[in-house]
Amino acid sequence: MIDPPPLPFEDWPRLEPGWVWLCGAGPGDPGQLTQHALTALRQADVIVYDALLDRRILDWRAAGSETVFAGKRGGKPSPLQRDISLRLVELARAGKRVLRRKGGYPFVFGRGGEEAQTLIQHGVPFRSVPGITAGIGGLAYAGIPVTHRDVNQSVAFVTGHDQTGEAPNAVNWEALAQGAQVIVVYMGMKHLDTIAQRLIRGGRAPADPVCIVSSAPTLDARLLATRLGRAPADATEAGLKPPAVICIGRAVLLRQALDWQALARGETPRNLDPLNRGRPAEAS
Ligand code: SAH
Repeated sequence: MIDPPPLPFEDWPRLEPGWVWLCGAGPGDPGQLTQHALTALRQADVIVYDALLDRRILDWRAAGSETVFAGKRGGKPSPLQRDISLRLVELARAGKRVLRRKGGYPFVFGRGGEEAQTLIQHGVPFRSVPGITAGIGGLAYAGIPVTHRDVNQSVAFVTGHDQTGEAPNAVNWEALAQGAQVIVVYMGMKHLDTIAQRLIRGGRAPADPVCIVSSAPTLDARLLATRLGRAPADATEAGLKPPAVICIGRAVLLRQALDWQALARGETPRNLDPLNRGRPAEAS
């Protein structure tokens, strides 16, 4: 019998000089990096990074490579988006192999599209390397599946603030209340009060389950299970801090059965039938 080839394969695409790879690193756990992101970390001459949730990711890089911080630090004003994009252009034109590293997936509320547009305008070749977005990967750590056949046929990813810093008016929150069975809000902590009120005004039940997952899946991870009507007050009382994703909808209930981290610690599932179906899963 012939052995299968060893994993991982060796012929991954290479990060070439003069190229920018726009990479997502997932919400924090280094194990969520894709093979392409690892290739980029090994080969990059320069790593331009934003918020850093896990130090280990930054430490994994080639000897002699350079790092450039391009995010917010200690309340100081963050660099202008245009300046960051132009810095990427400059580095690529200098013949560097550039890794632009962002949390999650740069094309989900990550300004990845804007940076890519600038690169293209300046004739700089780039590769988009998706990562696991916080609204999926963060919730996975909490034992919440964003879709489940018994719960939802739709999920909406929404940002809780827009370029003005307010809860985005471009989002019709009242319509969204009825439009998506599960709603995952990014950057929603500041305006959680407004968001909850508008969803309830749109007909979403105040008792709708909510889970707020903060800094998943890092050591600082914190989690709050609550209800829509109480979520803003509970979040304040618990002192939950960004970055956090807020999941609204009955998918949250599945955590009672699927909290795999608790199970790994030897706890028993809190509720094997959290949706009150009165039957085991997979019965249909
Ligand atoms: N491009 C990123 C999102 C950037 S916007 C992605 O795809 O995940 C920043 C928001 O993402 C935060 O305000 C928060 O809502 C969410 N987020 C990012 N990292 C997170 C983490 N580790 N835990 C929980 N939420 C996170």
